[in-house]
Amino acid sequence: MEPNDLLSMNPAELADFLAELGEPRYRAKQMFPLLHRGVSPDEMTNLPKSLRERIASAGVWRFPAVRRKLVSALDGTVKYLFALWDGNCVESVVMRYEHGNTVCISSQVGCRMGCRFCASTIGGRVRNLSAGELLGQVVAAQKDMGERISNIVLMGIGEPLDNYENVLKFLRLVNDPAGINIGYRHISLSTCGIVENIDRLREENLPITLSVSLHAADDETRSAIMPINRRWGVEELLSACRAYFRATGRRISFEYTLIAGKNDSEADAEKLARVLNAHLRSARDTMPIHVNLIPVNEVKETGFRHSDRAAVKRFAAVLERRGVRATVRRTLGADINASCGQLRRQEQE
Ligand code: SAH
Repeated sequence: MEPNDLLSMNPAELADFLAELGEPRYRAKQMFPLLHRGVSPDEMTNLPKSLRERIASAGVWRFPAVRRKLVSALDGTVKYLFALWDGNCVESVVMRYEHGNTVCISSQVGCRMGCRFCASTIGGRVRNLSAGELLGQVVAAQKDMGERISNIVLMGIGEPLDNYENVLKFLRLVNDPAGINIGYRHISLSTCGIVENIDRLREENLPITLSVSLHAADDETRSAIMPINRRWGVEELLSACRAYFRATGRRISFEYTLIAGKNDSEADAEKLARVLNAHLRSARDTMPIHVNLIPVNEVKETGFRHSDRAAVKRFAAVLERRGVRATVRRTLGADINASCGQLRRQEQE
């Protein structure tokens, strides 16, 4: 078995690990906040040298290394390609907003969900990220930028609900007051719709924001672009969303990627509004619905074209008319290809 990494350990596990090395448990309290600021055990001069050496030889400090860094000249968006301990790479993006910095992190090396428009899934899933590798992206980005990160979105490479345990552990670690202490309300998790794990997440009762990648409102269209829909269809997905909202009171946002000629007609917009209103606006629910419209990022392997501006406007207008709030996603980092797993693919090629 691979040795655990220090960033995956919660304070109790860190204390156990140190106890096994013959160290007093209180050392965990000294180390935890430093580790979460990206200080390597090597640099912890408050620790005895012999301990630093034993930790080094255990190989448990596996901090991501910045392999490439691109900074947008347009809006300051920063894109990182991080190399993990085994040479695999993942991408993270820091977006600068007036209300603070948001980091978008990856949850897996690759992805096995097979969405037809997505670059991250082309080579399949290589492996899951550990909780420490999820956290490491936040810590490393914060350290490299020298600025606080206040919001996290799990919207990078991978399907977070296909790596459920590690993602949950990560959420608790990143929320730890002794660590970087980001509130659950400042964290969003995006899923393609693994319904059984939306249900599990609901039961954890964490006030994170759920973001659902819908992209089509009927099973035929959705199954054609998102294979997961053959397992759980639109109805099941939306009833899981409703249950999630009822249990947590947290609004859910829907991502809708506009692909020319596939899902972007006015009839598609009518259908989307009808389905959302029917499932989420029953007499007992007054769930605020929000749709993010995203013109698809063109990935050379997929051949999909993004909708033109007029089509996007028409689509948004229909939703508006039907009482569904929609915003067209502002593109950040357009000059550095800031989304969709393409940097990792370049590196592989
Ligand atoms: N697996 C999760 C999170 C990662 S993808 C999910 O499916 O939600 C983050 C978002 O980007 C999802 O909404 C996804 O459908 C979307 N996406 C993927 N490829 C895209 C592309 N080429 N253009 C626009 N959005 C894309």
